[in-house]
This record gives sequence, structure tokens and C-alpha cells, in this order.
Amino acid sequence: MRQRTAQIDDCLQRQNSAYRPTHILFCKRRLLLLQAGSSVLRPSNLLKWSFWLFPRRCLWCGRSIPSEEILCTECLDLAPQPGSVRTLPSGLTVYSVFPYHSAGGVRLRWLKFAGQRGLAVDFGCAMGELLPAYILAEQPLFACVPSGADRLKERGYNQSAGLAKYAAMRTDCSFCPDLLKKVKKNKTQHEISAEERILNVQGVYARNPDIDIKSRHIVLVDDIVTTGATLEACAAVLAEGEVSQITALTALATGRK
Ligand SMILES: [Zn+2]
Repeated sequence: MRQRTAQIDDCLQRQNSAYRPTHILFCKRRLLLLQAGSSVLRPSNLLKWSFWLFPRRCLWCGRSIPSEEILCTECLDLAPQPGSVRTLPSGLTVYSVFPYHSAGGVRLRWLKFAGQRGLAVDFGCAMGELLPAYILAEQPLFACVPSGADRLKERGYNQSAGLAKYAAMRTDCSFCPDLLKKVKKNKTQHEISAEERILNVQGVYARNPDIDIKSRHIVLVDDIVTTGATLEACAAVLAEGEVSQITALTALATGRK
């Protein structure tokens, strides 16, 4: 156990030192490249080419890895196998890449709080690769949990939209960033109790009625699932559009609360 803790410390050390500056540089260039090309070329191929120029990074330590991998060989021994599935009380299935308390969790917080938008590429790809083939065969439409206007202004971006964009690119599916919007201010979910969270998201989300989602399979993307209250509130709103099925997809999953 002590050896494992030391290995995780070592991994975090690597994240915080040698790999961070180059990663920021690569991410900015890669994002520009992807933005420039995504409207003309097949998205999944574009991602592959971008990894040739700016290699994909291990989601735990940040080392360069082959574009088909999620973790480097060293972290594979240490990390939990990517991929967990949970069913929420409403019956909504949630696929997640890593547990919250992991080196992957640290990297996701960089994306969320430290302005490292480029990490959305690596996380988004890993999320897309997690979806089973039968879901992808239905050509699902990707949607994301929306941010409030204040949060968007503060961060400059919605990290869930970034994750959904690259998960959709990786799987050659469409992403609709405006399908859901936030129509009411609420408290930040992680600052309140599990019981309060359900009430806190009531009437907060609305669906764009101009977008026809009838009989579509929707993949609803968020960064983290904790109680699942936010995902369930969004799924309830989407269900009003007579969708065929909804599947949730997150980068991290906390233990059930
Ligand atoms: Zn690694």
C-alpha cells in the first residue's frame, strides 16, 4: 500500500513538473489545428493526424503515448482500468473513465479550474472510446450539461462542452452544444448535501425546442458524476423531446453519495 501511495505521489510529481509547460504549449497549438480543420475533414482522422504532430498524453502522468492508448505502460500497472458503468435511480446508465480520487482526477481539475482547455482532447477521446459499439452504431447525438452565464464568464469555457466535442469527434458523431441551456441560477452542486442536490436542479435546465431530437439516441456528457442529480435533471428535460434513448458519459465518477 505504501509503495502504491509512493507511486501515485511520483506520478503527481511528474504531472506538476516536467510535463506541464510543454503540454500547455502543445494543447494550444493542437486546439487551433483541430478548430481549423474540423469543418472540412473527417473528425476522427483529423484527431489521429493531430496526435502525430502533437502526441496524445497519458491521462495520469502526461507522457506521450500512442494515439490508441489512454494510459502509458507505467501508469497501466498503477491506475484502475479505465471504464466504469453505473445505473442511476431513474435507470440512466452512466459510463465514466476514472474514479474521482485518482491522478486522472487531478488532471481533470486542471481542465476545469486551471484553464488547460487542451486536456479536453485527451479526456474527450478516452470518453468516446469507452462507449460500446452498439451505441455508436446508432449514430448518437452528443449533448453536454450546460454552464450558467456567470460560470462561463469566469472560466471562459464550459469544460463539459469541450469533452463532448472531442468525444463526438473521436467517434464521428455529431455534437449539439446548444441542445440544453440553463434557465435558472442555482447553488454549486458540490457545495451542498446529497438531499439538497435533487431540489437544487429542479427547473434549472431547458431544452432548445428548435432542435429535433425525436427518436435520436442522446449521449449526455458531463465532467463528473457524484449523486447523478444533474445528469438526471438534464435527461428528464431531454426525454420530453421523445428521444429513443439517453446514455450519460463522464470523465470521472465519485463513490456513491
Ligand atoms: Zn502515465
